[in-house]
Amino acid sequence: MWISLFFFLFVIRLTIETDRNGGADCVEGDTIAAISTPIGEGAISIVRLSGDKAIDIANRIFKGKDLTKVPSHTLHYGKIVDPDTDEVIDEVIVSVMRAPKTFTVEDVVEINGHGGMIAVKRLLQLVLDQGARLAEPGEFTKRAFLNGRIDLSQAEAVMDIISSQTEQAMKVALNQLEGRLSKLIRNLRQNLLEIIAHVEVNIDYPEYDDVEEMTHHMMEEKTDVVLEEIDRLLSVAEQGKIFREGIKTAIIGRPNVGKSSLLNALVQEERAIVTDIAGTTRDVIEEYVNVRGIPLRLMDTAGIRETDDIVERIGVEKSRQILESADLTLFMLNNNEPLTDDDRMIFSMLDDMPYIVIINKTDLENELDLKEVEKLADGKKIISMSLKHQEGIEALEEAIKDLFFENKLVDRDEIYISNVRHIDLLKKAKRALLDAKDALTMQVPLDIVQIDVRRAWEYLGEIVGDTASESIIDQLFSQFCLGK
Ligand code: GDP
Repeated sequence: MWISLFFFLFVIRLTIETDRNGGADCVEGDTIAAISTPIGEGAISIVRLSGDKAIDIANRIFKGKDLTKVPSHTLHYGKIVDPDTDEVIDEVIVSVMRAPKTFTVEDVVEINGHGGMIAVKRLLQLVLDQGARLAEPGEFTKRAFLNGRIDLSQAEAVMDIISSQTEQAMKVALNQLEGRLSKLIRNLRQNLLEIIAHVEVNIDYPEYDDVEEMTHHMMEEKTDVVLEEIDRLLSVAEQGKIFREGIKTAIIGRPNVGKSSLLNALVQEERAIVTDIAGTTRDVIEEYVNVRGIPLRLMDTAGIRETDDIVERIGVEKSRQILESADLTLFMLNNNEPLTDDDRMIFSMLDDMPYIVIINKTDLENELDLKEVEKLADGKKIISMSLKHQEGIEALEEAIKDLFFENKLVDRDEIYISNVRHIDLLKKAKRALLDAKDALTMQVPLDIVQIDVRRAWEYLGEIVGDTASESIIDQLFSQFCLGK
C-alpha cells in the first residue's frame, strides 16, 4: 500500500517535471491560413484556416449564410466576395468546424473552391487581408501537437502518410498515426519511471522500512524487460525502413542482356498511371517501382539505360560498392550467350548478398551453361525470363516478395518503426540501459545507476515528444508540406 502510494506520487512528480505536452503549453491565438491542396490544376482546391478568428474571417468574405451562427461540423454553399470591390471570386462550399473537435483543436474553416491556381491564390490573399497569417510549413500539424491532440510520432506519421510511395509504407504510417507506437513507447517509459521512482523512494524515505529495498538484481531484471522490447523493435525497424525508403535494388549484367527492358517492364504499370498527370517528375517514376506493395528503389547503377557494361565502364571496385550498398541485386544473364569471366566475377562478388539470378532471352537458343549457373548461384533463386514475350516478370515479382516477406513481415499487427529519428533514439536509449547494466555489474550505487535509466527514459520521451527540445520540434514541423 505504502509502496504504491509513494510510487504514484513520484511518478506524478517526475512526469510533471518534464512533460511539455501537458496542456498548459498552448499556442498563441493568431489565426493561420494556407492552401491545403497541391499546387496545380485540380477539380477543387482548399484554403484552410485555423484559430480563434477562423470563422469570423471566413464569414467576412462569404455570402450565403452567417457562418458565425451555423452549427459545428457543417457544410455551406455560397460565394466568396471581395468585401472591398464586391467582386465574386469563386463559388464555394465552406466547412465550419469548431474547437475542440478538430485536427488542430482550434476553430477550423475549410473553403473548397474551384481548382484554378489564380482563384485559389486570390482566395488565400483575401483571408490574409482579413487578418489571417500565412501558415508556416507543417503549422497545422504542429498546432495539433502543441494542443495535445497528437504526439510527435503521430505528427511525423502525418508527414509519412503524405509522402508514402507505397501501400505498405502508408500502412506503417497509419499504424503510427493511430498511436500504437506511442502507446508502446509510453509503456516502456512507465517501466523505467517505476525503477527511478523506486530508487528515489529508497533514498528520500529510508525510514520507511516497509518499502521494499531496490536491489541491484531487481534493477537489472526490470531493465532487461525494457531492453528486450527495445531490441525487438529495433530488429523489425530494418523492415520498417524498407517500407518507407524502398529496397535499394541494383540491376546488373553485361551489355544488351536486357537490363533496360526489365526496368521498363517493372515501371510499366506506374508509367501508365502517371504519364497523364502534369508535373509528375521522371525521377520519381524511375526511382520507385512498386512490386506487389513492396517499394523497390532502383539504384542509379551508373546509367542503367545506357548500353555500356557497368563493370567495364565504372570499374570493378565501383561495381563492388554498388553491390554492397544494394539491399537486393537482380543479376541478369543472357540465355543466348555463354558465361564470361565477368559473369563469374560478379557471382563471386555477390557471394552471400541477397540476389536473384535472371536468365533472360529464353525465347532464343540456349547457349548458356545452366548447370554452371546453378552451381555458381548456390541455392539462390534463378528466374527464366523472356522480356520479349513478357514472360517471367510475375515469377520475378513473386521471388522478390518471398525474399522479403517470408516469415518476416507477414504479421500485420507488428509495430514497425520506420522513422530514422525514432531508430536513432531507440539505439541511444538502448545504449543508456546497457551502461546502466554495466554499472550494476560493477555494483555502482543505485542512485548513480539511476542516472543512466533516466537518460533512457528521456530518449524514449523524445520519440513521442514529451522530452523533445524546441529546436527538434521546429525542425520536424518545418519538413511538412505547407498547409498540412
Ligand atoms: P541492356 O543493355 O542490358 O539494358 O539491354 P536492353 O534492355 O537494352 O536490351 C538489349 C536488346 O535485347 C534490345 O534490343 C532488346 O529488345 C533485346 N531483348 C531484351 N529482352 C529480350 C528477350 O527476352 N528476348 C529477345 N529476343 N530480345 C530481348
